[in-house]
Amino acid sequence: MEKRFSKETLRRLRNDIPIHILIADFLNLPHKISEGYFRFLCPECSEFVTAVNPRTNLSRCFRCEKNFNTIDITMIVKRLNFREAVEYLLSIRRIG
Ligand SMILES: [Zn+2]
Repeated sequence: MEKRFSKETLRRLRNDIPIHILIADFLNLPHKISEGYFRFLCPECSEFVTAVNPRTNLSRCFRCEKNFNTIDITMIVKRLNFREAVEYLLSIRRIG
């Protein structure tokens, strides 16, 4: 009973929810502004060697050398599978 999401839905979830707002207000990851950059505690290595790119809406950990989009980071922080993370993001998008 795999629920399918359209490519357009997934694209919108990756692009339309500002990732710093997701991290700060919904996932409640520790975060700070440092040297003009939004930094968050990496959910994988627990370091602040991170940044977000407003242009691509990706968050990056320079220590893990990984990019996380909105779906990736939701899966990790909330320990959800892909489908659950997408449904969570759809639910907060309806609010916003
Ligand atoms: Zn990391």
